[in-house]
Amino acid sequence: MTIERNLLVGLDEIKSVVLQCEQCKSRMVISPDKMDTYPGACPRGHVWHWDTTPGREAVGTQSVGFVVSLKNLRSQTSSNAGFKLMLEFMDPKE
Ligand SMILES: [Zn+2]
Repeated sequence: MTIERNLLVGLDEIKSVVLQCEQCKSRMVISPDKMDTYPGACPRGHVWHWDTTPGREAVGTQSVGFVVSLKNLRSQTSSNAGFKLMLEFMDPKE
């Protein structure tokens, strides 16, 4: 018998958004509620593109949309829609 363990997380339980630089792997940890601006570079100065530069617009624009949506969904009560949006993750212990 296989037992599957997963973690079910409400959006209001998300502590932070973590941005990891693709070049140096350094990270910025920001509360989703405090993320009003988008860092233009990692702590070591590698440029991050949030704009709509051709070729990067999908990732940059969708990332901004994700953070904005996350902030908005966290500020609303679940009774507005009649359901609560949650995310499910695999248990990292497995
Ligand atoms: Zn970097």
